[in-house]
Amino acid sequence: MSDNLPDLFSHNRHWASQMERDRPGFFTSLVKQQTPKYMWIGCSDSRVPANQITGLEPGEVFVHRNVANIVVHSDLNALSAIQFAVERLKVQHIMVVGHYGCSGVQAAMEGARIGIADNWLRHIQDVRDRHRVLLESVPPGSRADALCELNVAEQVVNVAVSTVMVDAWSRGQDVSIHGWAFGVHDGLLQDLGLTADNTKPLETTYKACVQRIRYKWTGNGNGNGNGNGNGHAAQQNAEVTKEA
Ligand SMILES: [Zn+2]
Repeated sequence: MSDNLPDLFSHNRHWASQMERDRPGFFTSLVKQQTPKYMWIGCSDSRVPANQITGLEPGEVFVHRNVANIVVHSDLNALSAIQFAVERLKVQHIMVVGHYGCSGVQAAMEGARIGIADNWLRHIQDVRDRHRVLLESVPPGSRADALCELNVAEQVVNVAVSTVMVDAWSRGQDVSIHGWAFGVHDGLLQDLGLTADNTKPLETTYKACVQRIRYKWTGNGNGNGNGNGNGHAAQQNAEVTKEA
């Protein structure tokens, strides 16, 4: 692994010439337009690079990453990226991708003090608190990974209830949101089975996903699928269902 900045430029020149050799005209066609079908919302973690994991090339996936893949209703950066992807690029799929072993999720779960990031990770702690009953029934060693999946479920809902998606679905645009988790330990992606689109009530799929997460980590399939029964996400979903 390189720790020398000039090496990065050397690698870049090698990569560019290799690409042009393998695919003559590749960069010329990239200049004309980007038409990705996919938007990836993932963690900034250096071990989770969207293109390599999915085998996608430049031009094929529009990427937004932040610490612990959080979508906050007032985050103009994330909302602008989602709007650009949906309204200008017309992506067909938005993947919210968490990953096991996420240090942001771990820090939030433990209440570790980092600095200004504590305020960002407070959103994860809100997810933790919303699903406290579920998480307390998960073996301690697996709680962070369970919280990683619950966080993905909540962020899928946050994307789905954004004005961008409500507007897109109300005009009949074909775009769906998916919740995935990546295993740093084995390199594999998992579909958490939470797909939001304009064909079925989000509340139902959200609750079913939480139920599956509960069963996966606790072996207990009982419950209302909403952690403590008071999750705000389900209430938001009801609004989406009405509006969509
Ligand atoms: Zn992470």
